[in-house]
Amino acid sequence: MTPAPRRIVVVGGGAGGVLVAIALLRAVPGPTEVVVVERTGQLGEGVAYSTRDPLHRLNVPAAKLAATLDEPDDFLAWARAREASVTGGDFLPRADYGAYLRDALRRATEVAGVRGVTLQHRAGAVVAVLPGADGRERVALEDGAEVEADDVVLALGIGPPTRPSVLDGAPHTFASPWSPGALEPLPPGSTCLLVGSGLTAIDAALSVTAASPDARVVAVSRTGLVPFAHLPPRPGHAPAEPPTWPDGPLDLDVLAAALRAHVAAVRAAGGDWRDAVDSLRPQLTGLWQRLPLDEQRRFLRDGVRWWDVRRHRMAPDVGARVEALRADGRLTVLAGRIADVRAAGDGVDVIVGVADDDPQVVHAARVIACTGFGSDVAASADPLLRSLLAARRATPDALGIGLRTSDDGALVDAEGVPAAGVHVLGALRRGELWESTAVPELRAQAAAIATRLAARPD
Ligand SMILES: Cc1cc2nc3c(=O)[nH]c(=O)nc-3n(C[C@H](O)[C@H](O)[C@H](O)COP(=O)(O)OP(=O)(O)OC[C@H]3O[C@@H](n4cnc5c(N)ncnc54)[C@H](O)[C@@H]3O)c2cc1C
Repeated sequence: MTPAPRRIVVVGGGAGGVLVAIALLRAVPGPTEVVVVERTGQLGEGVAYSTRDPLHRLNVPAAKLAATLDEPDDFLAWARAREASVTGGDFLPRADYGAYLRDALRRATEVAGVRGVTLQHRAGAVVAVLPGADGRERVALEDGAEVEADDVVLALGIGPPTRPSVLDGAPHTFASPWSPGALEPLPPGSTCLLVGSGLTAIDAALSVTAASPDARVVAVSRTGLVPFAHLPPRPGHAPAEPPTWPDGPLDLDVLAAALRAHVAAVRAAGGDWRDAVDSLRPQLTGLWQRLPLDEQRRFLRDGVRWWDVRRHRMAPDVGARVEALRADGRLTVLAGRIADVRAAGDGVDVIVGVADDDPQVVHAARVIACTGFGSDVAASADPLLRSLLAARRATPDALGIGLRTSDDGALVDAEGVPAAGVHVLGALRRGELWESTAVPELRAQAAAIATRLAARPD
């Protein structure tokens, strides 16, 4: 009798799940089935790449977004085949990236088929991953189906958006820009209030002002900080060298002082502060892991917004558009807290507490929460996470913002034992790695998982 093929189930078919499926299709020997289970039924999208608005752009240039490092120009070549004028420095629409990932997956599937490695896509939500017989895993779906697997990769992503409780039950309020109807045209001359002023709020502001040419947008966040923009491409400009860090324990003050010195050195050599920030990218996980836990907490409390607006920047022309909207008074950013939201006429009055000043009242036809994603893993409502934690197969990391994993990405249980057959990639590792959500990191984690599984005997 022919033995059953080895089966690897990837839970989650966003960018991370597709990147790991591509890496597995390329690396594992046959006969193997790679099964991707995606709740929405749409591969390569997730929140980031499901938008259809061409104003919503990638925040990484095309030259850096290939699905695998073996073919670093693959995304650029794919984009150029559709539009010859695309350059490696272009920041393309995010919808294009989802389409690219699906095409790269199709191509990897065709090549792998020759070796007996196949891909299946199942639409459905996984609610549990349970120990099965003979060291295998049982992947349980919401509809009652079960899939047996030799290995499982959890690519669950960033989870659902969160919103401040003050918005609960408020009329004319949307939980995120991705909620149906949130970005539809507004009544003439009205105001849309965005809770948050990060990249998601920028997406919302671009769509709302394009759909409603005379609408005003007011964005409110605690810091009032807005992401900086990338500089336009500078042909021939060499990236900055990363700095050398002192040995021994680090704290945030040491890091901040060293970063200031590095920025000054890069500027003195003719560069920009952005070059200094970008040069740290390969060092960030190591630096994060050298910070004591208290300092990591201090960073999450006091430093993360300051850092994020510099590290996660807008495309240059998106930045120019945002500047123009602000200069025209169509986009206003307030530093404050939403104290209350009250029904008023055909909209709501939003009471914004502003430091050392009287509260401001903003009358809005619509309120959209753009506040990002839940980070308290123990409080997650996700059935799969809850079941893994309840069964003690998973345990929160020390900060509680992701799961504990081994250095090579195996899920670590409540007793500290790494699972032989459950692997984790992406945002669930951010507590331990910090940089763990963007495509370059997902791609590296996907390659590492695939290499490990390819080397493992059946
Ligand atoms: C608005 C936005 C823009 C971004 N832009 C960029 C960018 O330009 N460049 C960049 O590098 N990064 C960007 N990012 C970072 C982004 O998080 C990653 O690029 C990438 O989308 C993350 O992919 P992921 O698969 O890890 O997570 P997600 O995109 O969240 O995908 C996870 C998928 O898993 C599915 N899923 C979860 N749980 C289950 C379950 N139990 N059963 C079945 N399916 C499940 C979800 O439905 C989802 O489709 C952006 C993020 C956001 C939110």
